Amino acid sequence: MRVLDTHMHLGECLVFGLNIREEELVDYLNKYDVVVIIQPFPGAPDPVKVHDKIYELSIRYRGRVFGLASINPFFSQELITKELDRVLNQLGFVGIKLHTAGHSISPLNPRALPLFETAKKHRVPLMIHTGPGSFSDPALVASRAEEYPDVKIVLAHAGFGIYANTALWLAKKYDNIYLETSWSYIYDLQAFLNAVPDKVVFGTDLIENIPVEYAKLNALKVSEDIKEKFLYLNAKKIFKLSI
Ligand SMILES: [Zn+2]
Repeated sequence: MRVLDTHMHLGECLVFGLNIREEELVDYLNKYDVVVIIQPFPGAPDPVKVHDKIYELSIRYRGRVFGLASINPFFSQELITKELDRVLNQLGFVGIKLHTAGHSISPLNPRALPLFETAKKHRVPLMIHTGPGSFSDPALVASRAEEYPDVKIVLAHAGFGIYANTALWLAKKYDNIYLETSWSYIYDLQAFLNAVPDKVVFGTDLIENIPVEYAKLNALKVSEDIKEKFLYLNAKKIFKLSI
């Protein structure tokens, strides 16, 4: 079954001390029948350069690589708007990231608003980090989901175990909230797919976590139809990918 991985990074992360090289992503594409949505890390020294590298990959692997923009909301407003407009208009990026923990910003902080506004303007989903770290309780997303009913909000890590119940409650309550499941416990993943099978999308996040996330698929007790929605169809629809 073909997989659409909605959460993968490229480049260096000064915040979490990580680095994913382009060769590692190419290796992932060669070994798996996968379409990957790639974003810079929150601690990228130069996110604009990483956006350009993701764009190059999306040209080389057309239809298999897509870009998702990530830029520090505390940079100048002019730079943020200009860069988001550039990648969404000219580079074909398919979404925006709000990294609550990595950029130490609450979804309720006024500096997060340009990300919501840009997502609304370009009709692309906004992925928001949830789980460990500051400002990462998914409950903080609720009022924004009400203020931006037209913006599809994807809760990255779906609460990361610790906030899984809150994440699921939000996905049930709000039409525009979806769940990305990297790092989720297997029993939470099963609960998500039982409760909201049209709103759950697959993600891996880090190279080392790829085999771990794929191994969880063997433990799932769901129909092939729901598995296909989770692994491919839901994300294709949410991110409006022409694949
Ligand atoms: Zn991530």
